[in-house]
Amino acid sequence: MDRRVFNKALLAAGWAATYTSGAALAATAGAVTKIAGDVEAVTRTGGDTTLSKAALKELQAALRGALLLPGNADYESKRRVWNGMIDKRPGLIVRCSGATDVMHAVDFARDNDLLVAVRGGGHSISGKSVCDGGIMIDLSPMRWCLVDPDARTARLGAGSLLGDLDHESQQFGLATPCGTVSHTGAAGLTLGGGHGRLSRSFGLTCDNVRSVDIVTADGRFLKASAEENQDLYWGVRGGGGNFGIVTAFEYDLHKVGPMIYGGPMMYPLDQARDVFRIFAEFTAEAPREMSADVIALAPPGRKGFAILSFCYLGDHAEGERLLQPIRAAAKPIVDQVRPMLYNKLQTSADSGTPPGKLYYNKSGLMTSLEPGFLETIADRMEMAAGRPDPAVASNIIVQHLGGAVADVAPDETAYVHRDARYDSVILSAWDNAEFNDQNIGWLKDAYADMEPYSIGFYSNHMVDSDEPKLKRTFRGNYDRLVALKNRYDPTNLFHLNPNVKPTV
Ligand SMILES: Cc1cc2nc3c(=O)[nH]c(=O)nc-3n(C[C@H](O)[C@H](O)[C@H](O)COP(=O)(O)OP(=O)(O)OC[C@H]3O[C@@H](n4cnc5c(N)ncnc54)[C@H](O)[C@@H]3O)c2cc1C
Repeated sequence: MDRRVFNKALLAAGWAATYTSGAALAATAGAVTKIAGDVEAVTRTGGDTTLSKAALKELQAALRGALLLPGNADYESKRRVWNGMIDKRPGLIVRCSGATDVMHAVDFARDNDLLVAVRGGGHSISGKSVCDGGIMIDLSPMRWCLVDPDARTARLGAGSLLGDLDHESQQFGLATPCGTVSHTGAAGLTLGGGHGRLSRSFGLTCDNVRSVDIVTADGRFLKASAEENQDLYWGVRGGGGNFGIVTAFEYDLHKVGPMIYGGPMMYPLDQARDVFRIFAEFTAEAPREMSADVIALAPPGRKGFAILSFCYLGDHAEGERLLQPIRAAAKPIVDQVRPMLYNKLQTSADSGTPPGKLYYNKSGLMTSLEPGFLETIADRMEMAAGRPDPAVASNIIVQHLGGAVADVAPDETAYVHRDARYDSVILSAWDNAEFNDQNIGWLKDAYADMEPYSIGFYSNHMVDSDEPKLKRTFRGNYDRLVALKNRYDPTNLFHLNPNVKPTV
């Protein structure tokens, strides 16, 4: 059957609420876990508790997806997340096949006062999507995407990756803004805001959310949109996983490509200082159809690069004309900017951040790129290139925001930083845990020089958060988020996230 007809048929059949995809069932299928006895677990507040065999059997019987316990065949692989630094062992993992499993898992967690981790794509640096001793509510089997090409919308299961959304949407020449690495989870990215190559034209990922299906701490299944539960709809667009577990997203799609004018220009790392300056000058004036990032890479034992990466959504000849001054200012050693498939660009950075390496990052949002900041990051990359440490890759990435992101008022969604025109991230990756302290120390030290230039933080890059940091993350929206938390999650069941603490 034609994909378009197939999707329409599913939409007409009213699949939305508790749709369980074939992929989800396949991913959760396998031997039924044998529950040998009671299981020791950790509570919401860090205490010890015992889950009885009978209670676990009752939970298992209610689920369509698998319940995994320590010692089960799949437990070891499913507790793992993208960041190899995270090595946590949940008391139990619920591999949800759909919203119904999520509701059972939330009820079980609340009734047993368990520590709760929620896993979407499992791609956060913080790794808070897994926990020690608590329940890991794993949405990764809920990986499906249904596009309605006529309505220009996509419905997406909460375990989907960005590549799933792009792949299905681009079949119809459509897309919504999302991140720059296709194996990132859509759920975490969207709930914290979400920015990428289309954001200057069409806003943040969360600006393109029409509705979500969400299970709140009391186990209710709600829809949140401009028409229903408007307070929740406001909060899930930037407020992260504080208010419940989103089981499905509905996005607006836009006409994009499939051919765009874009790709990378590469320079030797020792030209990074000039490349940063060129990037700052170019992005200060670029039209909103043009998106650019700069990435400086210092890989271990190899020559590094400074890379300018572009995505222009307008006429290709005009894109070429816009980039002419850059090509004239500094000749790249590799120039792959050309008409190319949007999807190819969207997957072009995937291999640079494979799962399983040890990662750490720090980041800050900026309204402009001050000369002092550019000097600082150039100095730091010079130092990174000369570091003797074994097998550590250090990257600085500056993503260009502004444009349509700034069309939305700061209080219109929970994501507040509408004035930020740049997101700068310093990211290190290495293989040997012996060097964790050394590498994290180096990165924190480097970031200390960058931080004074930032106006606040993007919650999706945060590794840890205290109240002053959260106040700089949510700024003028913080008190409203606290009020929402008081209403929907007064016991702070969902707190493994940039946590807005309830005050009731
Ligand atoms: C290599 C790399 C590139 C990145 N590039 C970009 C980028 O271009 N643009 C950008 O905006 N961000 C980017 N990010 C940041 C990214 O947005 C976050 O890492 C995000 O948390 C990933 O979502 P996830 O679902 O994969 O993560 P997970 O680890 O699964 O989840 C992170 C947190 O989100 C919450 N959560 C997840 N799913 C749900 C749900 N369904 N309901 C409720 N809460 C949930 C939980 O609190 C969880 O702890 C990048 C990150 C990395 C590591």
